[in-house]
Amino acid sequence: MSDKVEKEEGSISIHTENIFPIIKKWLYSDKDIFLRELVSNAVDAIHKLQNVNLIEGLQIADEYKVNIHIDKEAGTLTVTDNGIGMTAEEVRKYINQVAFSSAEDFIEKFKDLEDKNQIIGHFGLGFYSSFMVADHVEIRTLSYQEDAEAVHWNCEGTTTYSLEPIDKKERGTEIILHLNEDEKEFLEADSVSEVLKKFCNFLPVSITLEGEEINDKNPLWTRSASEISDDEYKEFYRKLYPMSADPLFWIHLNIDFPFNLKGIVYFPHLTNEFDVTKSNISLFCNQVFVSDNTPELIPEFLTPLQGCLDAPDLPLNVSRSYLQNDPQVRKIREVISGRVAAKIVDLAKKDRDVFEPIWEDIHSFIKYGMMREDKFYEKVKDSVIYRATGDDRYTTLPDYLERGKDKHENKVYYANDEGTQATYLKLFKSQGMEVLILDAMIDNHFMQFLESKNTDLKFERVDSDITENLLEADPSQKIVEGADNKTKGEKIEQIFKDGLDIKGLTIRIETLKDDSVPGMILLNEQSRRFKEMTHMMGQGDMPDMFSDHTLMINTASPAVEKVLKLQDEGDTESATMLIDQIYDLAMLSHQAISKERMAGFLERSGKLLGMI
Ligand code: ADP
Repeated sequence: MSDKVEKEEGSISIHTENIFPIIKKWLYSDKDIFLRELVSNAVDAIHKLQNVNLIEGLQIADEYKVNIHIDKEAGTLTVTDNGIGMTAEEVRKYINQVAFSSAEDFIEKFKDLEDKNQIIGHFGLGFYSSFMVADHVEIRTLSYQEDAEAVHWNCEGTTTYSLEPIDKKERGTEIILHLNEDEKEFLEADSVSEVLKKFCNFLPVSITLEGEEINDKNPLWTRSASEISDDEYKEFYRKLYPMSADPLFWIHLNIDFPFNLKGIVYFPHLTNEFDVTKSNISLFCNQVFVSDNTPELIPEFLTPLQGCLDAPDLPLNVSRSYLQNDPQVRKIREVISGRVAAKIVDLAKKDRDVFEPIWEDIHSFIKYGMMREDKFYEKVKDSVIYRATGDDRYTTLPDYLERGKDKHENKVYYANDEGTQATYLKLFKSQGMEVLILDAMIDNHFMQFLESKNTDLKFERVDSDITENLLEADPSQKIVEGADNKTKGEKIEQIFKDGLDIKGLTIRIETLKDDSVPGMILLNEQSRRFKEMTHMMGQGDMPDMFSDHTLMINTASPAVEKVLKLQDEGDTESATMLIDQIYDLAMLSHQAISKERMAGFLERSGKLLGMI
């Protein structure tokens, strides 16, 4: 049906005298958005026509496209589509009435809303956002309907408009913006192109600027994962983040039920400059860019994830705080967390060659996620890997415990500093005992977390105690010798106690299977952790980790034998030198020798060298 129009003039709505100032003032902050709105409307118009074409079998075989044209001389920017077009009746209904009646609601409902950009386009104001940059706007449109008459709508930024028939042959709509004096930047192709790239980069219809196509109509997330190669995923990533190194892994989402969600999320190669407070996911709605700052969509511990999510059913016309509590957004977070967990499990099981090299980059997030989210913990707990001493290989905790169950059931020996704990690591190695390296910031918390989850499990740092497996049952130190009725061990203990007058020091005598180490410092696991924890909770300066410590003397060491011998021979001076040297060496391996003792140590070392 065609409706004949004479030229008419009218008033847009009696209630909306204020709409233009509101549009300008409230929405001014991000005025680029008008282009997104106009292009989205144009794409919608094309989709509508495609649907009608399908249903009514119209046999339209056009190449659908939206073109943006700049006329510098006329000072206009024109968005043209070959979509469904509008009849005069539709212009009255959709442009005059709909937009303006909802403008009233808009003012009422959103007068206090902070983030105005979120609502525009979802409240029937999309088209009117053009008044942010132009006071004078024209629509020239021809409906697809047979015998339709083309019409021209003209509005010069007041509440009056005119509508008249015109001669226009091509089906579709042209929106002509006469740009305001201070919006002339939209007459520069570069600026327009930049805005289009931001909002329209992945629109499903060809978008051209002066005839040149701007967009990628079939972004990777719209394709089926089974037909995409790794290189294509990487290439798409480079397109999104041109300056970045290849991502570590990615997940392709394609969910239809219970909601629609498509997208590709990438775990980036993290650098130090990485800002963990910022969201890195771009949100799309049917390939229309919506926002690149929606941290609500990603579980907090996965903030580093990058990529694109296309969530057509999301209620985007609402505020951020609403989004945070929206059940569907929560579901999206759960889906993403679940898919990341599944990916980790999969990599750990099937792709160790890929998994191990990226582990150091991702482990903090995974561990943090386990502590934050119980479901995530349950899924990935057996896939977490640890670097073990030996051949620098990785192991899971269940595997580690299984291998060590005869020697140390349910006990995990760990080192957090391979340098200062080298002596201990060597001892463990010589006895064929594996040690896990847990040297990241998060590991302290993570161990305690694992202990709380598995009450039988205990983590002990290699220098916290001497395990039975390293000890030789040495009867000789028990044998009572001489007139003083003391065992050899008791004698050595006494000599070291007398020789070392150090606050908080306990002497302990043991015989190790390994005779190369005369003395080692032991720091009780629990009291060390307590000190670390109080420090971490911000109570005071770094505590003195050595305010109580144990010097374990190894009676198997020839140096200790020597001390005993010198003492027996009455050469107390040499015996004392050796005792000090043994203690200082033990402290030195912890990099914990005090400044005062360092001077003495160096001088003594010099002397000892001269004695050889
Ligand atoms: P919304 O797009 O949110 O519905 P708009 O104010 O942007 O709100 O547009 C109002 C209506 O005008 C649209 O729903 C559509 O029916 C019509 N319209 C806008 N632009 C076009 C276009 N380029 N072609 C056909 N119809 C259009």
